Amino acid sequence: MPALDYYRVADLFTPEERLIQEEARRFLEAEAAPHIAQWWEEGTFPRHLIPRFGELGFLGSNLPEEYGGAGASNVAYGLIMYELERIDSGLRSFASVQSSLVMYPIYRYGSEERRREYLPKLARGEIVGCFGLTEPDGGSDPGSMKTRARKDGSSYVITGRKMWITNGNIADIAVIWAKDDEGVIRGFIVPTDTPGFRAREIKHKASLRASVTSELILDEVRVDAAQMLPEARGLGAALSCLTQARYGITWGAAGVIDAVFHEALEFARHRITFGRPIAERQLVQAKLVEMVESHTQALLMSWRLGKLKDEDKLTYAQVSLAKRSNVRAALQAARSAREILGGSGITLEYAAIRHMLNLETVDTYEGTYDIHTLIVGRDVTGMGAF
Ligand SMILES: Cc1cc2nc3c(=O)[nH]c(=O)nc-3n(C[C@H](O)[C@H](O)[C@H](O)COP(=O)(O)OP(=O)(O)OC[C@H]3O[C@@H](n4cnc5c(N)ncnc54)[C@H](O)[C@@H]3O)c2cc1C
Repeated sequence: MPALDYYRVADLFTPEERLIQEEARRFLEAEAAPHIAQWWEEGTFPRHLIPRFGELGFLGSNLPEEYGGAGASNVAYGLIMYELERIDSGLRSFASVQSSLVMYPIYRYGSEERRREYLPKLARGEIVGCFGLTEPDGGSDPGSMKTRARKDGSSYVITGRKMWITNGNIADIAVIWAKDDEGVIRGFIVPTDTPGFRAREIKHKASLRASVTSELILDEVRVDAAQMLPEARGLGAALSCLTQARYGITWGAAGVIDAVFHEALEFARHRITFGRPIAERQLVQAKLVEMVESHTQALLMSWRLGKLKDEDKLTYAQVSLAKRSNVRAALQAARSAREILGGSGITLEYAAIRHMLNLETVDTYEGTYDIHTLIVGRDVTGMGAF
């Protein structure tokens, strides 16, 4: 049960969902929380945790068991994302990409052979995947992509560049989106050891440092036609994967609010200025109350989305509203927590500034805040303002 749960939202979870969350918290508190600041500062992703994530069912948890998933509910999947991001957005990003951007498209759009070949290994964390949609010339408009997949006999030859790709340098396979000879966007499972495929790690990041981000260069990369996702035709397929990942992000953002709230509250109770703890001050209380409010709103939105998703009634615009709202609320909460911590808040001894900087990425990737405004705006007016 989340420690910050003002409206007892956890009462809405099933016993199994609560158990999954408790197990995730216990594991992450023991194995990740004590080290995350160091990993972030060093700019390293904890690869040794990948098989552990697999054992614990963090990867593809909402996919069927016959393909290695855990067959868990969408709320359970969301709670795992909540717990991962409560520690760090980089950990959640890894799991989001592996589950929603690699396993989901293979499951949803892949052939039966490719499902059986890749999904169990991805679920166990034996292999890592990445998702290449964004290109250097602009991520908000993926339909304008330049990457091409030319048909050549029984193969496709892929050429292009992908930018800002999470897991790029540690991936064994990449789901690459490219336009075919007819100009239709198709998805391909590309083994990263295929000749012509290169990944270049993007360094000097001031955000999401405990995560690998890469540029992918594909120079005449030849893959068998059987590596194409046969059911994925057009941009909608790629965007449907983003809807899955964005759904998880809405939960993750709530996890961050929980983390920074508790850190700020603990500090405010003990920090004495003018002879009294700062928690007694109205201005400080206002900040803490805003965090409680935004966490409550975020959790309720995500839970409702999870139920709609279980019932197959979820729309992408509904997910856009929560991605936009929850991430911006979490960013504000992290900034407020940083402020309450005063000077101490600028060091990595506290989590607030790390979360705050991570969330600058989360606010931008998977559709920026403004792009989600335009998605919901189009949904409610029927008029696109892109
Ligand atoms: C750390 C990190 C990891 C990422 N991981 C992945 C990944 O694994 N796979 C992947 O494919 N991509 C990934 N991305 C890419 C991410 O999705 C893009 O950065 C994002 O979509 C924005 O694209 P852009 O950076 O090209 O910005 P642009 O699209 O150039 O946008 C720049 C600015 O213009 C605004 N803007 C754009 N169009 C409009 C408009 N019509 N009206 C008003 N404002 C507009 C945007 O809101 C933004 O503020 C990642 C990004 C980061 C930073």
